[in-house]
Amino acid sequence: MTDDSETILTLRRERMVLEQLEQRGVNDPQVLGAMRKVPRHFFVPVEFVEDAYKDGPLAIGEGQTISQPYVVGSMTAHLHLTPDSKVLEIGTGSGYQTAILAEIVKVVYSIERIGTLLAQANQIFQKLKYENIKTRLGDGSLGWPEEAPFDAIVVTAAAKSIPEKLVEQLHLGGVMIVPIERGIHGQQELIKISKTKEGIETKSLYPVRFVQLKSDTVN
Ligand code: SAH
Repeated sequence: MTDDSETILTLRRERMVLEQLEQRGVNDPQVLGAMRKVPRHFFVPVEFVEDAYKDGPLAIGEGQTISQPYVVGSMTAHLHLTPDSKVLEIGTGSGYQTAILAEIVKVVYSIERIGTLLAQANQIFQKLKYENIKTRLGDGSLGWPEEAPFDAIVVTAAAKSIPEKLVEQLHLGGVMIVPIERGIHGQQELIKISKTKEGIETKSLYPVRFVQLKSDTVN
């Protein structure tokens, strides 16, 4: 890519952060900083590089999508991360959300069920020199028990109900963000789950549209 096209993409990214995040109420400085830095165009298929900073999801192959920038920013802000947070992501997909998390915390764990997508994401992590991302191929609804508990868990595929195994792997005081299917017409809501001494608190954030959280692994 030429220097000129890199500059244009950087300007588009600045604009994405301003118009799609700040102006819509995402104002956590560490999230904005990460989204200003991570080159989203590396995480989309080559034919979509021109669309990488647009306000929407994009197809990444295997019937999956890279989430809309606003959704990535807003979900990350709701996790209330600190540099010491231990975070688990379910659904690596393109790896974009993983990279955003990796800019904020020391180490990110991410699980993907489709082998080809995970291999591609791992290649991009290497190219961009993210050494603090640990990935695993498998069913993320089972979590990553050897590394539990986590301070924050973000699920980037829609579950039919609150994934109990993931709640178990959440630290007391920890937060999980998960899209949950509601009703019979494919509606989904983004849910924030906080684990407290008294039990689980759930809060509905806003309607979303994610691919389904599936339970079988595809190698
Ligand atoms: N965070 C990703 C979202 C990708 S779409 C991004 O922004 O690019 C959701 C991803 O979840 C898909 O790649 C899909 O294969 C994966 N997925 C679905 N069910 C899963 C499961 N049970 N375990 C792990 N990954 C799963």
